Amino acid sequence: MQPSFAPGSDRGESADLAFTDPLTGLGNHRRFFDKIDRLISDRADDPAPFAVGILDLDGFKPINDLFGRRSGDDILVQVAMRLRAAMDGGATVARIGPDEFAFLYPMVFSEEAVAERARMLIEILSAPYDVGDRTARLSASVGCSLFYSGDETTEILVDKAETALYHAKRSGRGKVVVYTREMEAAARRATHIEQALRRAVSSGEVEPHFQPIIDLATRRIRGFETLARWTDRDLGFVSPSIFIPIAEERGFIGPLSQLVLRKAAEAARSWPSDLFLSFNLSPSQLVDQNTGLHILAILDRTGFDPRRLEIEITETGLMNDPVSAAKIVEDLRRCGIRVALDDFGTGLSSLGRLREFHFDKLKIDRSFVSSILDDRPSEHIIRAILSMCEGLGMEAIAEGIEKEGQAARLTEFGCSGGQGYLFGRPANAETTLGLLRDTLRGTALAAAS
Ligand code: C2E
Ligand code: MG
Ligand code: MG
Repeated sequence: MQPSFAPGSDRGESADLAFTDPLTGLGNHRRFFDKIDRLISDRADDPAPFAVGILDLDGFKPINDLFGRRSGDDILVQVAMRLRAAMDGGATVARIGPDEFAFLYPMVFSEEAVAERARMLIEILSAPYDVGDRTARLSASVGCSLFYSGDETTEILVDKAETALYHAKRSGRGKVVVYTREMEAAARRATHIEQALRRAVSSGEVEPHFQPIIDLATRRIRGFETLARWTDRDLGFVSPSIFIPIAEERGFIGPLSQLVLRKAAEAARSWPSDLFLSFNLSPSQLVDQNTGLHILAILDRTGFDPRRLEIEITETGLMNDPVSAAKIVEDLRRCGIRVALDDFGTGLSSLGRLREFHFDKLKIDRSFVSSILDDRPSEHIIRAILSMCEGLGMEAIAEGIEKEGQAARLTEFGCSGGQGYLFGRPANAETTLGLLRDTLRGTALAAAS
C-alpha cells in the first residue's frame, strides 16, 4: 500500500478539500459548478433537460444569535444530513453559502417535477432540530431553473435559479419559485426603468404632486400628501408603485427622495402657513441613519418649518430593523416633525408596534374605506381602528375616499381626516397653488357676504 504522504495522493487530497465544505462535508460551490459543467457537456447531444435548485434557510441569523454560533453550526450539519439523505436518482447537494444549499437533478425534466422536489425538501427541513436540550425550527425558500438547450452556460443556469430564489424570498417564507421567461422580461424591464430613472433623478426630472387631506367635518384642507410623479420620454408615465420599489431595491431611493422633498418643500412655502406637507419614506430609508440628517438639511436650506412636515411610514418599514427605525423616528419627532403610520391594516400588521412606537397619525388603508358601504367586516374594522386611535391619542385619516356616502359614514363613526378622489386628485405644484388661491378667495367671499 502506498503511504498516504505520497505526492500524488497529497495533491488529490488538497484538490478534494478545495471542493469540499469543511463544516458539513458536502461539496462546495466549486464542486457544484464543476458538476453542472460536466453534465452540460455530457448532454451535448441529448435534448433531455435537467434541473438545479438553490435553497436558502429563512431567518437563519436570528437562530445563530439566539442559540449561539456553535449550535448554529450543529443545525447546519443536521440540515446537510437531511438534504443528503433526500437525494436520489443521481441527484447531488452542495453547500454554496453560509445558509445556502444547491441541488442538481440530472433526471428531473419539468418545472412541476423540480417544484415538487423542492417542496419535499422544505418539508424535510421543517421538522425540529435538537440544540442541546432545546429544539429549533427552520423554514427555507427555494429557487429552481431548468437547463433546456445547448446555448446556456452554468453561470446563466445558476443566475436564473438565484433570480427565482429572490422572487421566492420576496413572496414570504417557505416558498418555491421556478424561473420563467416572464421573470427575465420583468428583470429586463426593471433594469431599463432603473437606468432611465437614474438619469431622471440626476437631471431633476421627478416631480412632486400634491393630494389634499381634509378635515371631514368642515371639509377644509388641512395639508397635502406629496406623491412622486415621473414621465419618461420613451417609457411614458410610470407609476410610483413601480418605480419607487425599483429605486429602493437598487439603492438610489435616497437621492430620489431628497429631490422630491426639496421640490415639495419649495412649493409648499407659498401655501398658507397653517397647512402641512406630508411625505412618504421608504422602508430602506428607515435603516439608513443619515435619513434624518438629509431631511433636516433640506428643510433648513429651503426654509421650511419642520413643524409643518409629516412623515408617512409603513409597518414594513419598521419591521426590517426596529431599533434603527425607532431612532430615526425619535430624531425626527424631536425636531417637531410628525409621524404617520401609512396603509394601516395591510401587510404585516402588528398591533404590538403601536405600543413600542408613538405615532401622531394613522392612515386607514383604502381597501377598508372602499368597502365600508357594502361590507360589514370592513365597517367593524374601521370602527375598531378609530376607537383604538382615540385611546392612543392618534389622529385617524381615511385614505381613498371616492364617494360621498363613504365620507358620511366615516364622519358618523368619528373619523376626523380624509383623503381621496372625492376631495381632489394629486396635482402638480402650480395647479395646487391655484386650488389654494380659489379656496382662499371662496372663504373670503363667504366671510364678506
Ligand atoms: P400611498 O402613500 O398610500 O399613497 C396613496 C396612493 O393612493 C397614491 O397612489 C394616491 O394617488 C392613491 N389614491 C389617493 N386617493 C385615491 C382614491 O380615492 N382612489 C384610488 N384608487 N387611489 C387613490 P400613487 O400616487 O400611485 O402612489 C402609490 C404609492 O407609491 C404611495 O402609496 C407610496 O407608498 C408610494 N410613493 C409615492 N410617492 C412616493 C415618494 O415620494 N416616496 C416614497 N418613498 N414613496 C412614494
Ligand atoms: Mg402615503
Ligand atoms: Mg397610504
